[in-house]
Amino acid sequence: MRSASYGERNLEEIHERESHLKIERIETDYYRLPLEPMGDAGHGAIDTEELITLSLHAEGLTGHGYTYTIGRGGRAVKALIDHDIAPLISGQDAAQIQAIWDLMWQRLLYVGRGGLASFAIAAVDVALWDLYGVREEKPLYALLGAEARDLPAYGSGVDLPKPLDGLLAQTEGFLERGFPGVKVKIGRPDPTEDEQRIRAVRELIGDGVDLMVDANMAWTTDEALERGRRLEEYGLYWYEEPTIPEDVAGHARLAREMDVPIAVGESLHSPHEFRRYVEEEAAAVLQIDPITNGGITASLEALKMADEAGLKTSSHYTDELSAHLLCASENPVYLEKHAFALDEYLQEPQRVVNGHVRPTETSGTGLRFDAERLAPYAAG
Ligand SMILES: [Mg+2]
Repeated sequence: MRSASYGERNLEEIHERESHLKIERIETDYYRLPLEPMGDAGHGAIDTEELITLSLHAEGLTGHGYTYTIGRGGRAVKALIDHDIAPLISGQDAAQIQAIWDLMWQRLLYVGRGGLASFAIAAVDVALWDLYGVREEKPLYALLGAEARDLPAYGSGVDLPKPLDGLLAQTEGFLERGFPGVKVKIGRPDPTEDEQRIRAVRELIGDGVDLMVDANMAWTTDEALERGRRLEEYGLYWYEEPTIPEDVAGHARLAREMDVPIAVGESLHSPHEFRRYVEEEAAAVLQIDPITNGGITASLEALKMADEAGLKTSSHYTDELSAHLLCASENPVYLEKHAFALDEYLQEPQRVVNGHVRPTETSGTGLRFDAERLAPYAAG
């Protein structure tokens, strides 16, 4: 069974080798990347992505990690890394990835248990996995005991404010790139507008393309039920974040009472939060984001839970990391090609071929930022 191989066996092997890859130094940089103005029903207007890059040095090797926000909180995340996490893990063995994750989680527990702390933990955890791959000269998916595969990707817009013609133009662009699925934001104040938009997109894409909707936590459970039912006739592939992530019971009710699968994950900041959803049968699709979930280590746990419960998996943003992680999942239905593409800042942007993506073959995560392209956006 594939779930037995999620990096654990390899980590055990490394532990047995008595490696000591002493963490010597962690460096971070903070950037504010401008975005074409966009928005959704839960987070409002978005025009900036905060990016914090991280390099972790150990015994002559360097692991690269990063974390991001959608415009707020990034400086606090960077401060958590610089002032609290870096001194905490200095001198630790970089090969002990799970032990370091546990240490960061425990020592930040009082102010953490998710939230900003998870975004900070993630940056370090991504760098540790990258370093592990660099050292083993293997791409991340191979470290996880997985094989590379073509993953279907869907075109995803953060498009709630877009007028209908703009929404349709965006959707046409997704179709031109060969995506087998597209996702549309919902949550306009007037429910008939959501209906018109979803109907128009369905007419444009036909029945052969999957259509997902995303409410970004905008509604109460009752509202989500009523608003979702209005859209079911358009053949939805999933209904994402219909209500707030704290309301697991509400999601479970929607999962029971609606025919459309419920999808969550981007707002779950630890394996503990995923576990509640799985135990309460509150979602049919688990969407990993190895930054917001609290690192690759945390997202792998979520994937394992999905496998054990027979759930489908997908991803949120983090296109490049998720291409590796979803290869280690038993039923990855889609990778999200997100509107906040990092492509222009990457040395090796992810390639989309006929609407599908593959993980990179270079050692580690394969994710390397282009320092020159980021430089104009450095901020304090
Ligand atoms: Mg979403």
